[in-house]
Parts: sequence; C-alpha cells; structure tokens
Amino acid sequence: RSKSAGRNCFTIYDEAMSAELEARNTLEGDLRDAIALCQLEVHYQPFMDAGTGARRGFEALVRWRHPTRGLIPPDQFIALAEETGLIVPLGEFVLRRACADAAAWPSDLMVAVNLSPIQFKEADLFDVINAALRDSGLSPQRLEIEITESVLLERGTENLAFMERLKSIGVELALDDFGTGYSSLSYLTAFPFDKIKIDKSFIRNLTHQPRSSAIISSIVTLARGLDMSVTAEGVETSEEFERLKALGVNFAQGYLFSRPLPIDQIELDGPAEGSQRDAA
Ligand code: C2E
Ligand code: MG
Ligand code: MG
Ligand code: MG
Repeated sequence: RSKSAGRNCFTIYDEAMSAELEARNTLEGDLRDAIALCQLEVHYQPFMDAGTGARRGFEALVRWRHPTRGLIPPDQFIALAEETGLIVPLGEFVLRRACADAAAWPSDLMVAVNLSPIQFKEADLFDVINAALRDSGLSPQRLEIEITESVLLERGTENLAFMERLKSIGVELALDDFGTGYSSLSYLTAFPFDKIKIDKSFIRNLTHQPRSSAIISSIVTLARGLDMSVTAEGVETSEEFERLKALGVNFAQGYLFSRPLPIDQIELDGPAEGSQRDAA
C-alpha cells in the first residue's frame, strides 16, 4: 500500500511539475508576444534631493500590461526574461522608451534605467546605449544606469572597461540594492560608481532599530570618502525621511513621494517641451 501511495504521490508530483512547466511555457510565449505587441510599459518613480526636497529624476520601472491578467509587476517576469534571453530585447525597449520620454522632460531631470546582468554579456551593449541616447537626443549626463552586484561577480575586467567607457561619455552609474548581495566593499573601490542605492530592507524599521541607523551612517561615510552619493530606496514615512536626512543621505526614493506611475500621470512642473506638446 505504501508503495502505491508513493507512486500516486509521484504521479501527482509529476503532473504538478508538468502543469508548472506548461504554465511557464505559456508565460514565455506570452512574454515573447508582449515585446512584439508592445504590451510592456515603462512607469516612473521620482527620486528626490534630500537636502532641498526637489525632484532630481525618475527611475524607469517596467510593467507588463497582460491582455487577460492585467498589470504584471517585474518581479513576476524579469527572472523568466533573464532565463530565456528575452531580457535583451526587453531591456533595450525600456532603455529606448526611457531615453525618449526623458528627452521631453525639463533638462534638470535625470532618468535611471535598470540593466540586467544578462544584458552585460552582450558585446554590443555599449552601442545599444549609445544608439538609444543618439536617437532620443537625450544628453548622456541625464542617463543613469543601475546595476546590482551580481553584474560584478563575473567578468570583472570586461565590465570595468565597459563601465569606464560609459563614464567617458558622461553616463552615471549606480550600484542598486546595496547591502543585499555579497556587498564586497572592494566593488566600491574597483568600479567607478557615482551612487550607491541602499536597499529598502535597511530603511524598514529604521526608526526602531538603532542598528539600521548605524549601517546607513557607515555607508554614508564610506560613500563620502569615495566621492559617491547615496540614495535611500523604499522611503515610506516622513519619520524615515527625517532620519535619513539626519544621517546624511543625498537622495531619497519611495512611496512617501510617489509610487511608480505611467508617463501620462507624472506631473512635470516647469515649461517642459513634452507637456506643451501634450497640451497642444
Ligand atoms: P529596483 O530597481 O530596486 O526598484 C525599486 C523597487 O522598489 C520597485 O519595484 C519600486 O516600485 C519599489 N519601491 C519603490 N518605493 C517603494 C516603497 O516605498 N516601498 C516599497 N515596499 N517598495 C518600493 P518594482 O517596480 O516592482 O521593480 C522590482 C525590481 O524589478 C526592480 O528593483 C528591478 O530590480 C527590477 N526591474 C524593474 N524594471 C526593470 C527593467 O526595466 N529592467 C531590469 N533588468 N530590471 C527591472
Ligand atoms: Mg533600480
Ligand atoms: Mg533597488
Ligand atoms: Mg530591488
């Protein structure tokens, strides 16, 4: 009996596996179509200068407007896109969209774009970025590229050369989700980052846990010594923001200021060329 129960178990497990595989294949096919059918959208979340409270720019965050499943957040498809290589056309779409959108904003606003480690394996990534800048007319100084530590684990010297090349044309580099990965401090000296983005997990409970304050304060000190700026991501309350300002953080981003919004819902004060065109 136990043997047959075991076999049943195995059968159920097997069916669950193939159902999962099928769902995955469907999702993969859908994602492939999504790119071709332009179902991907880029939403924008502002980041603020902590000192002045002024908006400094927006981070581009991809969403998938699925025909039947509604708006799907990136956590549900970026990993699949990376496994299937679809992240390459997806990433290029986001980059081009973000550069084109930002080119119509007031010129003091930056745009930050996340790049996947998989995109770094493409030999022509520099040309892709350069073409996105050229075709949109966006000044390279207004583009910030966000990468996570996982990019740096592999191909260190090639990535260094690539990053130096981006810097030489004026593009800024941010180390995203700092504190969640291997967080080797040697990355900070080995690679030419302009900015460190402290992961939101350190911001949670900031106002209750003295340890979080100590960590953020040492990241700020370290960044200053290396001539880098610091962004706190995931700022949700004004208490957190006040604390972060006192700790010397340069930029803040989070729901306190705004959730990521579709392009037509972000308010651009000042005489933006884009908004004039929209109003006409
Ligand atoms: P990320 O680059 O670290 O982006 C920040 C994430 O935190 C975003 O989630 C944002 O919506 C969320 N967030 C912002 N403020 C708050 C807050 O106050 N509280 C909380 N709880 N969350 C906040 P989102 O948009 O779901 O994106 C998740 C991740 O997906 C991003 O993390 C990034 O790693 C990845 N991603 C998004 N767009 C792209 C893209 O175009 N390309 C690549 N390669 N990855 C992307
Ligand atoms: Mg990011
Ligand atoms: Mg982040
Ligand atoms: Mg993240």
